[in-house]
This record gives sequence, C-alpha cells and structure tokens, in this order.
Amino acid sequence: LAPAHIRAISPYQPGKPISELAREMGLDEASIVKLASNENPLGVGEKTREAMQRALADIARYPDGNGFELKDALCRRYGVAIDQIVLGNGSNDVLEMVAGAFLGPEREAVFAQHAFAVYPLATQAAGAKGIQVPAKNFGHDLDAMLAAITPATRVVFIANPNNPTGTFIPGPELEAFLARVPADVLVVLDEAYTEYLAPDQRYDAIGWIARFPNLLVSRTFSKAYGLAGLRVGYGLGNPAVIDLLNRVRQPFNVCSVGLAAAAAALFDDDFLERSYVANAAGMQQLTQGFQRLGLDWIPSAGNFVTFKVGDGAAVNAALLAQGVIVRPIGGYGMPEWLRVSIGLESENARFLEVLPDCLV
Ligand code: PMP
Repeated sequence: LAPAHIRAISPYQPGKPISELAREMGLDEASIVKLASNENPLGVGEKTREAMQRALADIARYPDGNGFELKDALCRRYGVAIDQIVLGNGSNDVLEMVAGAFLGPEREAVFAQHAFAVYPLATQAAGAKGIQVPAKNFGHDLDAMLAAITPATRVVFIANPNNPTGTFIPGPELEAFLARVPADVLVVLDEAYTEYLAPDQRYDAIGWIARFPNLLVSRTFSKAYGLAGLRVGYGLGNPAVIDLLNRVRQPFNVCSVGLAAAAAALFDDDFLERSYVANAAGMQQLTQGFQRLGLDWIPSAGNFVTFKVGDGAAVNAALLAQGVIVRPIGGYGMPEWLRVSIGLESENARFLEVLPDCLV
C-alpha cells in the first residue's frame, strides 16, 4: 500500500475535455466552447507550426536530452547562460523537480491560499509539509508568507499572476520580498502568464537572478505561445540550483517536436503580440458582460478571469449542459466562484449569451 502522504493526495482536476462532454451530453463537438484551461484561443503561430512539421521528420530519434537548441534560443532571448536553464515537460514538471530536489520529510514549502494547485500537490507527493498562508484580497500576502517561513522551510512558491485568481504582485514588491527571504530558501516565481502582463505591469525577474541565487523563475510555452498540448516549460536560475534540478529530471523529458516548436515560438513576436492584444480585448468583453449581469469578478492580469456566481457547482453544471466548459474552483477554496479563460470573441460571446440562464 502507498504511504499515508500519498493516499491523502486529492488529484489535480483538469478542465473537462470537449470529446468527453460531447459524449456525456450528446452534443456535437463543434458546438462546444471550452474556456477551462487558460489555453491560447489563437492556436499556434505559423512559424512554429512549420518547425513542428520539420521536427516530425526525425521522430524515430530520441529528442536531444539536453535541449541544446531551445536552451540556446532562451540564452539569446533572455541573456542567460546555458547552465542557468532547466527544461520541463510543461512548467508543472519544473515545479515537481523543485519538490523532488528540495523537499522531503521534515521539510516545508510555503504557498498562498487560492494559489496554483500543483504547489500543494508536489509538496505532498514529496512527503513534505505544505504551509498555506491566508490570501489578502485573493492574492499573495507577502508579509504573512515571510512570517510563515521556519527553519524547516526550503521552498516558497509564488505565482505572478496567480491562477485561478488572476491577482498580480508589482515587481518592486517582489524584489523587496526576495531581499528578505533567507538565502537557504528557494523562491519559485511561477510566471506562467507573464506574457499577458500590461506594459506598465512588466518587470524583469530574470535580471534579479544574479542578485538572488535562491530565485528560480519558472515559465511555460503552454499559455501565450499556444503550445499547451506539447508540454514545454522552463526554469531559469542560479547554476547550482539548476544542477540540482537536473539531477532529478527525467532523461528526454521534453519531446523533440516540443523542443523545436518552443525554439521557433520564442522568436515569433508577431504571434505573441496578437495573442496579447486578443486577450486584452477578450478580457474587456467578458468583464463588461459581468458588469451588465451585475456579477462580481476579480481583476485579472492573466488570460482568464474568476467571477462570482453563488453556487459554482450548480452554475457550472448548467453551463456544461449548454456546451460551455469553464472551471469550477471549489478545490481552491472558492466554491462560489468560477474561472473562465479568455477565448475567441465568438466563444466569449457564446459564454455570455448562455450565462444568464445558467445563474441560479
Ligand atoms: N503555473 C501556473 C500558475 C499555471 O496556471 C499553470 C497551468 N495551469 C502551470 C504553472 C503549468 O502549466 P504547464 O505545465 O502547462 O506549463
């Protein structure tokens, strides 16, 4: 039998796949709108698609286990050295490597209430103790998180913007926080949604790594780059931290198509810009819709927004019956709220059209 700390885990609940809902409800797949997993509704950029196709020609070979070309592309893009990069099978993989390398029995990880679900999951799977710090205005309370650090703390997880609340911590506050965290505590700054930040919100965490060797910046190609299905993420940090993560990393953890696609996507600024602009417009479309309906929402810096409906489970069920998939977040301690991802204009419109009749 598995040990108690494994049996106590409640598994991650992903958004319901379109094919599953179609079968459950007897709906045509094409009529279903999925706004549940913070995916990029624009799909994949053309240059990236071409790179994927080229990589398919060599699919009988193992991928480059060290991901040289993608790392080289990241070096050029961000001015880091190759030994400052670890690649992950999605950034979830990076988070798990952190837990595998830095956590374990008798150790603690600190994260915020309503923060991304993989932090408690990875902590628990490593047999460590998770310390959940109450949220402030649905976001991270950095002072309380500092106060929660004990001699057993090895990792602090911070998502900026946070999922599922979309809350954002300004760069200067993060920098001041880093200056106060003990040097033997790794701060994982999860920037999965950083490409969606407005120009006046942007900050340069990668530039802080030289000053804070205990900082690991984690990013992904799943969101703004439109590659969620390929599973590519990365961590940037001090070479000593990266070396430890590489020890627990699976060989060949990123597939060859993923490596090629990500390297191409990284330089497709045009696609990134279009994704940003479409997201900003979609965010406005949804929040104006909430306003018309008199619904509360939490201002979001990501590609999703969390809104208050009262009975989240019931409204979610009603939306599913209409072929609209959003994300219930009862598991995040927010049973009265639902999270909706920004979709195409037509998808957002469909969601807003069915929503009034789904409210209970
Ligand atoms: N961090 C945050 C805050 C997220 O919301 C997500 C995606 N749900 C991830 C990390 C992981 O994404 P991926 O593994 O696809 O990179």
